Amino acid sequence: MSTRTYDHWIDGREYAPSGRQHIERHSPAHGGLLARFAEGSAQDVDIAVERAKALHVSRAWSSLPGSERAKLLSRLADLIERDAERLAEIEAEEVGKPIIYARGEVSWAAELTRFAASLAWQIKGEAYTHLGDDRLGLVTREARGVVGLIVPWNFPLVCLFQKLPYALAAGCPVVIKPSELTSGSALEVARLAAEAGFPAGLINIVTGRGEVVGERLTRHPDVSMISFTGSTRVGKQIAASAAGDLTRVALELGGKAANVVFADADLEAALDGVLFGVILNQGEECVAGTRLLIEESVADEFVARLVERASRVVVGLPLDDQTQIGALIHEQHLHSVLGYIEVGRQEGARLLCGGERLTQGSLGKGYFVGPTIFTEVRPEHRIFREEIFGPVLTVTRFKTVDEAIELANDTLYGLGNGLWTKDLDKALAVSQKLQSGTVYVNTYLESAPQLPFGGFKQSGYGRENGVDGLHEFLEVKATFIKTGPRTPVLPNTLG
Ligand code: NAD
Repeated sequence: MSTRTYDHWIDGREYAPSGRQHIERHSPAHGGLLARFAEGSAQDVDIAVERAKALHVSRAWSSLPGSERAKLLSRLADLIERDAERLAEIEAEEVGKPIIYARGEVSWAAELTRFAASLAWQIKGEAYTHLGDDRLGLVTREARGVVGLIVPWNFPLVCLFQKLPYALAAGCPVVIKPSELTSGSALEVARLAAEAGFPAGLINIVTGRGEVVGERLTRHPDVSMISFTGSTRVGKQIAASAAGDLTRVALELGGKAANVVFADADLEAALDGVLFGVILNQGEECVAGTRLLIEESVADEFVARLVERASRVVVGLPLDDQTQIGALIHEQHLHSVLGYIEVGRQEGARLLCGGERLTQGSLGKGYFVGPTIFTEVRPEHRIFREEIFGPVLTVTRFKTVDEAIELANDTLYGLGNGLWTKDLDKALAVSQKLQSGTVYVNTYLESAPQLPFGGFKQSGYGRENGVDGLHEFLEVKATFIKTGPRTPVLPNTLG
């Protein structure tokens, strides 16, 4: 694919950045220039918010019947599927991830859009009809207003589509701020939305840096809500900035998921799930299952087989269909991951495989690290506690169910966890005690659009997907209606 150059997308068309500057994105896998994204300013954000607000005030979108909004969402899903391969290539190239997983990401984005369309048909309230013959209570749900969507670089489409179709279904115009590293797929989607027939001003995109574009969006007085996905560090800053005007905030933040494997599990399936959980997206994944907790009685054999399997994982260029691990996002992040590996060694954990930059053959110009497994990892080790965001797995043994639960919950995060056992009673009992927004049982990272996604503890608040994901973008209103002949409220003073 040739180098792509994008401006912002505002009011249904391309919009040159006020500063006339673009940010270059080079491939993390081979160094070639992939794309140029407009470098946005606070002024650009103001223009986008103004257009979105004008659409909201006109009620041209929010007052459309939900079924009409649903039609357009379904059309967008069709167009995403039509252009799936192009979108997957952009996603794979800009992130550095394997094309096989980028394809899955695109089809998940289309599926989420279809599901959100189905919700648009069903937005409803309640009527309280037993308040007395002359009284009626209505509870209705209204579009919140202009919503700022801020997304990270690791899953540009998935993170966007866990927000965008729901906001649109609810009737809200949006201003999107993609990551400055991976803005291409969002800008392509904006063009598809125009082709589908969405009104101008509904979907606006201002690209650029977080400290400029993101910061202005979170402080803008006409933005009613910020839905943010990214690091816990930036999430805390955003919550603080938004507090000035009490702007509503939904936060999808970092994680440090455990995969708990009991001796009575289907160990063959668990091997696959554990490995997939840590290599997907090079481990640059908020719900990456980076802490293996393994029952002592099967630990030696399980870990030996895991290391053998990890040695067969194909590390390669993003657009190669054989590749299972692509490149890390940029050089600084490569050094951060290698730095954690060094910390693990110094803390006394034992490195079983991986642990270094790969440079052979076609990997020479990129930021590649293969599956890396540390054993003898204790809860006080930094590699057990901190989000590494690379394909690095820690192994810790347990003897009892209670010990497994305690280890899994021994983290500031609470996004997801996995557990493996054939005993369904045990699975339910343990899943109830795991402090995370999602628990995967006998699988990892599988889900359905109907299920809400979000974090406990410092993994954030608010939910995406499911009906809860729609409700994030709806404001609740109570209307009390007096019907029939008037009875004075204060009979002695009002005539
Ligand atoms: P990040 O927090 O650095 O950036 C996320 C987005 O916020 C980017 O678009 C960035 O430009 C913007 N931003 C940065 N500073 C800002 C500021 N001061 N004000 C407003 N916006 C600002 O995260 P990242 O490095 O892009 O992504 C990796 C992180 O995202 C990891 O911690 C990962 O766990 C998390 N993540 C969470 C989920 C989830 O669903 N919980 C999903 C994917 C990624």
